[in-house]
Amino acid sequence: MIKFYKKDSKLYSIVKNCCPKCHKGKFWPTDNPFKNIFIKNGGDLGCCKNCSFQFEIEPGFWFGAMYVSYALSVFFSLLVWLIINLINENIGVFMSFCIVALSIVGFSPLVYFYSRLIWINLFVAYEK
Ligand SMILES: [Zn+2]
Repeated sequence: MIKFYKKDSKLYSIVKNCCPKCHKGKFWPTDNPFKNIFIKNGGDLGCCKNCSFQFEIEPGFWFGAMYVSYALSVFFSLLVWLIINLINENIGVFMSFCIVALSIVGFSPLVYFYSRLIWINLFVAYEK
């Protein structure tokens, strides 16, 4: 498989579910977003087990991840809408709406998982 990210890049931390500061400890308890939501109750680890970095930098820090979550939801919605319209050109507006709405619900664990990782990586730099 071709890797499109370097080990010390922010993309590495996002894709590999790593601490944004050391890239060694984990951010979420598991790498599977669905397992993380439905089995681990959707909580991050709180702090890195390798470097002890507190993930919630300030109170209310994760509210900003909602903006990332919104952008990711719009992206997935447009992608699903484009795919279903490429597969079936005669699909109705109501049916398209229903499929896109269901896909938003289906993708929500993924969106939640990656929105927090992207948000924290906007503010925390990698330190060797
Ligand atoms: Zn760390």
